[in-house]
Amino acid sequence: MYNDNPTLNINKEIDESKQGQAFFKEGIKGDKKFYIESYGCQMNFSDSEIVASILADIGYQPTRNIEETNLIFINTCSIREKAEDNVRKRLRIFDKMKRKRPDLLVGVLGCMAERLKEKFLEEEKLVDMVVGPDAYRDIPKLVANAFDGEKGVNVFLSREETYADISPLRLDGNGISAFISIMRGCDNMCSFCVVPYTRGRERSRNCFTVIAEARDLFERGYKEVTLLGQNVDSYKWENPETKKVVSFAELLVMVANVSPELRVRFSTSHPKDITEEVMYAIRDHENICNYIHLPVQSGNSRILKLMNRTYDREWYMKKVDDIRRIIPDCAISSDIITGFCTETEEEHQDSLSIIKYANYSLSYMFFYSERPGTLAQRKYEDDIPLAVKKRRLAEVIEVQRAVSIAENEKDIGKVFKVLIEGNSKRSDDFYKGRNSQNKMTIFQKKGDFKPGDYVQVKITESTMATLKGEIVL
Ligand code: SF4
Repeated sequence: MYNDNPTLNINKEIDESKQGQAFFKEGIKGDKKFYIESYGCQMNFSDSEIVASILADIGYQPTRNIEETNLIFINTCSIREKAEDNVRKRLRIFDKMKRKRPDLLVGVLGCMAERLKEKFLEEEKLVDMVVGPDAYRDIPKLVANAFDGEKGVNVFLSREETYADISPLRLDGNGISAFISIMRGCDNMCSFCVVPYTRGRERSRNCFTVIAEARDLFERGYKEVTLLGQNVDSYKWENPETKKVVSFAELLVMVANVSPELRVRFSTSHPKDITEEVMYAIRDHENICNYIHLPVQSGNSRILKLMNRTYDREWYMKKVDDIRRIIPDCAISSDIITGFCTETEEEHQDSLSIIKYANYSLSYMFFYSERPGTLAQRKYEDDIPLAVKKRRLAEVIEVQRAVSIAENEKDIGKVFKVLIEGNSKRSDDFYKGRNSQNKMTIFQKKGDFKPGDYVQVKITESTMATLKGEIVL
């Protein structure tokens, strides 16, 4: 799941009252501070918490006030051109700051750092450190060198690194939901995607460290964990002692067994790898949420072949049928790319019809953005005019909007178990929280329920993106 819009407020989330709760590590010594902002997918936000933990080990505390630190990090995304443009815009602002404060150090992390490597230092003179997703352990050395005036780059991609022994410092703190990264990298070579080049080969994390992290979060009051990976369905960890291989379905159940009060979500699935075992694990464990993010990318088999997605339309529809058969009330969401190389109008219609077939609760929809170095960039011409890409995207968004509205309308009158996450954006008299299907639900406060509690909510109204209701006791 990718988010082009820079979320500058990540540090704003850390409000004073939650200071103790937000920090995984107690008693960070010293008053050195750093500022970090993250872009892109949940994996990047989770990585920023790993970076924060590594910096905490050398006495740095995160701050949300960029003016009170001389150490800034930006964790970048490279999934689309727009994502990189957003990063460059921020660097312009940092550049202005650095002209006034020459002692300011700027570190670039994440996929854009990995994609550009040393070139980043040539292109952006203000940058002092360029660190790829597998090299964050090197940050303390790079920071020390940078303070001595030596710029540094480490973009080594590892086949082992999972940061399993590093406990994230929770930055994005509502104290209720947290990400747990279970694997890194991706072995799929979707022709439009930079991730295999910027995050390297797949490797799965020791399952016992995942369970330990989930248990620790639960003991500290968290009520929901989201297991993260580019393709969680290909999670496979071999226990070096027993040689037993732990699958994703088994890991899901192990995490769910931490406590029935701990909700478990996961992202992102891949249609070619998702198994019935995963679907049965969801069906048989109330606390594993009835929600699957299953990116289709295109509804047409010829385009799927060009995208090297390794499944076709019929295979994907069969997976949707399996989910509907095994978990009837499961919500499914997706990713869709319009205007991929040589896509015809008829083939575009296949993407519109698969939205209706799958009845997605929501989708992340983009037009094709050619990425340097990808298979598609090397093999295919980006021949669909921008206006056509945008028109097709508008049509996909329109169809998805109608499907989301209809899907949410079906929930009116139903009662759902909702985890209270906090006050609704619009009014402190209302709470917000999500049901098992990952649908945001807004309801009036009642009794002495508080964030972190589960409540039964009867749905009375719905919109495209939200359900509204009332607590039923
Ligand atoms: S599965 Fe495909 S789209 Fe997803 S990260 Fe891997 S290569 Fe990219």
